[in-house]
Amino acid sequence: MLIVGAGAAGLAAAITAARRGVEVVVLEQNERPGKKILVSGNGRCNIANRRPDPARFHSTRPERVKEILRGYDAKKVLDFLHSVGIETEEEEEGKLFPMGRQAASVVNLLTRECQRLGVELVTGCQVMEIRREKEGFSLKSSQGTHRCRQLLLTTGSPAAPQLGGSNAGMLFAQSLGHRLIPPRPALVALESDASWPKRASGVKLHARVRLLASDSFVTEREGDLLFTDYGVSGLAVLDLSREASLRLAEWEPCELSIDLMPGWSKERLSKLLTERIDPDRDLPLDLWLEGVLHRKLVPVILKITGIRIGSEKQLNRKIIRQLLYTIKNLKLPIRQTRDFRYAEVATGGINLAEVDPERMESRKVPGLYFAGEILDVDGDRGGFNFHWAWSTGIRAGMSVKSEE
Ligand SMILES: Cc1cc2nc3c(=O)[nH]c(=O)nc-3n(C[C@H](O)[C@H](O)[C@H](O)COP(=O)(O)OP(=O)(O)OC[C@H]3O[C@@H](n4cnc5c(N)ncnc54)[C@H](O)[C@@H]3O)c2cc1C
Repeated sequence: MLIVGAGAAGLAAAITAARRGVEVVVLEQNERPGKKILVSGNGRCNIANRRPDPARFHSTRPERVKEILRGYDAKKVLDFLHSVGIETEEEEEGKLFPMGRQAASVVNLLTRECQRLGVELVTGCQVMEIRREKEGFSLKSSQGTHRCRQLLLTTGSPAAPQLGGSNAGMLFAQSLGHRLIPPRPALVALESDASWPKRASGVKLHARVRLLASDSFVTEREGDLLFTDYGVSGLAVLDLSREASLRLAEWEPCELSIDLMPGWSKERLSKLLTERIDPDRDLPLDLWLEGVLHRKLVPVILKITGIRIGSEKQLNRKIIRQLLYTIKNLKLPIRQTRDFRYAEVATGGINLAEVDPERMESRKVPGLYFAGEILDVDGDRGGFNFHWAWSTGIRAGMSVKSEE
């Protein structure tokens, strides 16, 4: 069989199929396999998650995701990783990491197992065209023509093109008769036309971020928020970015409502602000606010609130209420997500309705298989995307016929 794409899904499929005696050739456009594995988790590789609940995976066909993941729990994935020589350790929120915390070791162990099994790994080989033939497929690549009876596409998504991310496989599948859900950047930072994030650039804090689309609440996350020159980043933003991405793609106006102090209820914060007014001390207002807020945020809050007074003793209940409202409800219009170069994954991909959930085989083209991020599934941050790649790769590797 031929596999296009030596990422997590392609390598898992190659190993699984080769263990069953299938002759496997993997074509990879990069000079080395597993580039996304190498950079994952900042080089530590958040390789899986202890609790791969289907709710952590997103698709236009969630019922299919459930079927595909049935039987593919953390143990199944960990058994596979263990068989390759990768031991794991759990951190917070069920996140699993290789014990040495080295993504490079994960790639080394996977490629070593491929070698041991006689998998032919052809790197620097970009596939440019795929055609159906009477018995199988013909592929044109930068290294010539290849023929096979069974073909597995594990070319991933267009996220992170600098690492080999591409929609090529999705387009090949489309040319073979599959329907695509258009890919959009996800787990990605958000850009704004507002000028004030630039002034607060570099400020990182714990915040609650709500996403509103067409003035309606969509979702919210609490966690790190980072102001940047272009808008906002940080884990809370990444975690709701897919929802923003899908709505922005439909031209819905999106904005964030940011609570800069989620740990303080309105009542408690109101009490704190009121009680700390000291007319004798009479601090300039900006300095007075610096007592509770990051100093780079102070001019932003004062400007947005439209407060013109100069010092502490002029503060009154009305002004405190206005300040409170802005601090707990700072609005930021969102123009777009950052582009695919900055996205960890993409939403969309091959429509799951056209893929057999047991075998990962195309329902349109016999002998054609899919696994990994090329499919219309994106997972939450926390190891879920690799869980999907390993699980579907193993499924595909188990399904291909062994007579070739
Ligand atoms: C910066 C970053 C950090 C991440 N961190 C994590 C993490 O910690 N945990 C987690 O679970 N997920 C993480 N992810 C997501 C995860 O890396 C992907 O979901 C996963 O790698 C998808 O695996 P895949 O095998 O489907 O695709 P990929 O890993 O993208 O592999 C596809 C392969 O196909 C090759 N290819 C594409 N087109 C062609 C062609 N025409 N011809 C030949 N070869 C081709 C590509 O070069 C690539 O090597 C991260 C992603 C990024 C970008």
